[in-house]
Amino acid sequence: MSLRPKILYPLFSSLNNIPGIGPRTTKLIEKITAPNPFGLCKHLPTNLLTRKRIIKLSFAEKDKFIILPVEVISHKPSRRKNMPYKVVCLGGGVELELVFFNAKSDYLEEILPINKKKIVSGKIDFFRRKYQIIHPDYVVDSKNIGTIPSSEPIYPLTKGLTQKLLRKSIIWSLEQLPDLPEWVDTGLIEAQKWSSWRQSLIKLHNVNSHSDFYLSSSSRTRLAYDELLANQLAISIIRSDIKTHIGKKIISKKIIRNKVISLLPFKITDSQKKALEKIELEMADEKRMVHLLQGDVGSGKTIVALLSMLTVIEAGYQCALMAPTEILSKQHFLTFRKFLKDTDITVSLLAGNEKSSVRKKNLDDLSSGSSQVVIGTHSLFQEGVNFKNLGLVVIDEQQRFGVHQRYLLASKGKKTNVLVMTATPIPRTLTLASFGDINVSCLREKPVGRKDIITRVVPISRFNNIILAIKNKIKNNERVYWVCPLIEESEILNLVNVKKRFESLKNIFGSKIGLVHGKLKSEEKDLTMKKFVSGEISIIVSTTVIEVGVDIPEATVMVIEHAERFGLSQLHQLRGRVGRGNVQSLCVLVYDPPLTNTASTRLKVLRDTNDGFRIAEEDLRLRGSGEVLGIKQSGFPEFYFADLTAHQNLLENANNDAQKTLKIDPGLTSKRGSALRHLLYLFEKDTAIKYLQSG
Ligand code: ADP
Ligand code: MG
Repeated sequence: MSLRPKILYPLFSSLNNIPGIGPRTTKLIEKITAPNPFGLCKHLPTNLLTRKRIIKLSFAEKDKFIILPVEVISHKPSRRKNMPYKVVCLGGGVELELVFFNAKSDYLEEILPINKKKIVSGKIDFFRRKYQIIHPDYVVDSKNIGTIPSSEPIYPLTKGLTQKLLRKSIIWSLEQLPDLPEWVDTGLIEAQKWSSWRQSLIKLHNVNSHSDFYLSSSSRTRLAYDELLANQLAISIIRSDIKTHIGKKIISKKIIRNKVISLLPFKITDSQKKALEKIELEMADEKRMVHLLQGDVGSGKTIVALLSMLTVIEAGYQCALMAPTEILSKQHFLTFRKFLKDTDITVSLLAGNEKSSVRKKNLDDLSSGSSQVVIGTHSLFQEGVNFKNLGLVVIDEQQRFGVHQRYLLASKGKKTNVLVMTATPIPRTLTLASFGDINVSCLREKPVGRKDIITRVVPISRFNNIILAIKNKIKNNERVYWVCPLIEESEILNLVNVKKRFESLKNIFGSKIGLVHGKLKSEEKDLTMKKFVSGEISIIVSTTVIEVGVDIPEATVMVIEHAERFGLSQLHQLRGRVGRGNVQSLCVLVYDPPLTNTASTRLKVLRDTNDGFRIAEEDLRLRGSGEVLGIKQSGFPEFYFADLTAHQNLLENANNDAQKTLKIDPGLTSKRGSALRHLLYLFEKDTAIKYLQSG
């Protein structure tokens, strides 16, 4: 068991210890960061509010914060509900109204007595030819002018949370920061002239000027380095643990894999062949393989995985394939069975929803070794799933899995080779931060005969034309996906939308149409997909559950409603569900005007290119580095201080440092090693520490 050092307890304790913070505020804070003091310390300000002292209102600029001496002239209580209470003042001879909504008059009379001089501060507005301040943030006596801060950091908020309360909680949290033994190499500290992590963190919250926000500021770089070092150490620990064990040399004559290649209904592309050979070569080495296979949607990654597995199986080992959705694992299962029907390899499916008797048999077959390939969702890596001799794990659509799930996986197959597959090109910085140093191969060409998908961008007002086009396609026995709008964070609304659209299309197309969404039972989903493949139904109305991986070559039309609400790479993934056969496919991006500039650019990019790599680049450009590939939702590590674009060099340094350190001190037992353990706990890399202790 790993035990966090006592000195760090206060940083991970409940927020209820902060005076004035209860469960309600904690819930709000949870929306923006981890609900503990260190979580708050990691929540950095993004802007600076400055208050300018002036004596004459005519010097004030609209929307700027000022500090101004005033004399109270009169009170105008609100006459009706919803009307504000106003206090009229003179500031350097010019009239100023202080405006309060839902105010208590007793209180206002007390803090702003008539004829008295006061100092007020707030955002200056000019409304109906009058200066006003709505809800001044400070009202103090003249002698206390010094208590009004001339600048304050501004934090990202969530609805219901105020700057004042958040700032107060953060200041309290910063006071809990302990001094910890220095974990950064002394040489580096001196060369960079870095302050301690504690001082640097405090500085990040006490910004005085805009340059304090620079990603290159000394305090920010220091914390970014700390964070990246924790990340690289954790990855290296998990992986060096693997290297210290003797890995499995996967060597076989490749008889089965060559036979299956010769029986394929198509010729594998050069890219596929190269990737396969590279993977086989790496597996033949006794170090554990972690290999990333990138390839645009439809480039044929599945077959590369399958062929790699055959080499492993012939060498006497089992293989597992993990896919992010049930639909996708079912599909892979069927594909594998189809391509392996002339071999005596047994493939089983563990999607997490099978009957318990079936599940038990599958589990028995895996532990006895009578089943050589298992395909499933993340349920594959739960308790109770045991292999006789696991030699290769393939993770399809890796961006869909959380970091946590990948750790689970790593612990299941300590000595197991891993192949991760993704349709989204990942820059080196991200692979380094996610997997450490790994090899990458790329399927650059598409299978021959594929035609580029034609993409049209049309407003929803052309609904009738879309229906007409679909009718024509269906006449030719082609299949259509109709994907309904995505409403972020609302599964319920997404469901309402898809059901409504299903009903309205059913009125037009009758029984030729089916519905698929995440809340359906898997048998229902399976049945609908089956009918779609067989042609019994021609249209599937769906939420984004079909977004990744689904491979039905008969499908040739993809309609995406409210396309303006989807991100670029998501649209590209969805579009990739068609164009998988040799028939010309069509993608219709339906939007509801007016379009914002970025939405319109996104749709244009999609209309103009089918190239996933170009689309990924555009995506980066449009979204900026902070949101690289949607790091938040995508199973890539999330960083608070580091910015993978700006701090690329730091990442490389952290990688080197981690490698060097672990070589000299693999158990982190030296003086610096023990300091580094604090660092790992601080950034919650507890899993890595567990590895240190078990090893
Ligand atoms: P993705 O890379 O998006 O996962 P898939 O592996 O699902 O792509 O492959 C897409 C389709 O292309 C499948 O129907 C597959 O059988 C087919 N395919 C794969 N390789 C080739 C090839 N070399 N020639 C023709 N078709 C291929
Ligand atoms: Mg795929």
